[in-house]
Amino acid sequence: MNPSKLTVVLSQAQGQHPVRRHLEENLASALLLEHGIDVSVIPHLYDLTEDHTGMLFLRSITGDIVVLSWLYPRAAHWMLDRHGVKGKPGEARLAGGEEEEEEEEEVGPASEDTEAIGDEEKPKPIEAADVPDRYIYTLDLRQQDRPEPYLEEIRRIAAECLGRRKNTLSEGHSASRAGEMKPRGFIARESIAGPAASRGNGRPGSEQLLATPARRRWYPVIDFSRCTNCMECIDFCLFGVYGVDAKDRILVENPDNCKKGCPACSRVCPEHAIIFPEYKTPAIAGANLGSISGLKIDLTRFFGGDDALSLAAKERDRELVRDGRSAVGLTAGIPKRQGARNKEGPRDELDQLMDKLDKLDL
Ligand code: SF4
Ligand code: SF4
Repeated sequence: MNPSKLTVVLSQAQGQHPVRRHLEENLASALLLEHGIDVSVIPHLYDLTEDHTGMLFLRSITGDIVVLSWLYPRAAHWMLDRHGVKGKPGEARLAGGEEEEEEEEEVGPASEDTEAIGDEEKPKPIEAADVPDRYIYTLDLRQQDRPEPYLEEIRRIAAECLGRRKNTLSEGHSASRAGEMKPRGFIARESIAGPAASRGNGRPGSEQLLATPARRRWYPVIDFSRCTNCMECIDFCLFGVYGVDAKDRILVENPDNCKKGCPACSRVCPEHAIIFPEYKTPAIAGANLGSISGLKIDLTRFFGGDDALSLAAKERDRELVRDGRSAVGLTAGIPKRQGARNKEGPRDELDQLMDKLDKLDL
């Protein structure tokens, strides 16, 4: 890892999807020929545990990073943040974005509780903690089926990062910045499968990593640019997935306690801040809600509509019963405000007034 170079990390798809492998191999091969870029390959980002070699490698990078993965960029960013790979979100300009995708299911009747209407009264998001002065660009490998658009974008990002570094140096921060850029971790070289590996191995200046395959995982990822630390998720989850850190911020404490395939708490979160990156519905999987809310669409439609809470309770009951426990329906851990809404139908002005009085905590 050369501190003057941009680190590009390619996170592989799960399984052995031939089309996806082909794109990965072509991209890795092409990136090896690029000047000013170090490229490494890791297993699927979502599946990496804290102590996986791929995660240790990611945490060892201290400069700007580009992460290519088969995930929505928002999901990948907050997944990295959760593992301590923190940075400011770099703005990617890859064509073929999410706005072209269609939502698939769970589109219920629109209510008046739109993102736009709620904005004025909303509590503020708690945002990511301890973010260093570097950028992380996350690109979705599903956006294009050829390597060229990615290469073009990575070159643009490399130039952007270099320009930023030069500015920082010329502003007299050279000593501290150089210290930040110095790599401090190690890279464990292991076997890499496929033609990209054989072409890349031994090439001066190139670098690849493929750690041991990771088993599939399923757990929630919190988007702290939306999360207000309301704790409704910790009350709702009866499987001990959530906890709080030393600063009383919500965190996913026991990710592997989460029940595979179930996205129940994402429907309960009032800020739509909980992401399940492998779920089939784009809004829950981490599609960019900013662009959706910009269109003043009621986001609750994408999380189960007006029935979201009942749906979440059913999904939770299913998992409780599978665990040999009793179903609890809507009797446990149901957010008061949403529970009332769910029972009584669409909210009116009186509901909104009551919410304001609740906030006064009289
Ligand atoms: S329910 Fe959503 S907003 Fe509230 S603490 Fe959990 S993730 Fe954050
Ligand atoms: S999906 Fe279910 S088990 Fe997993 S964190 Fe949410 S409520 Fe808990």
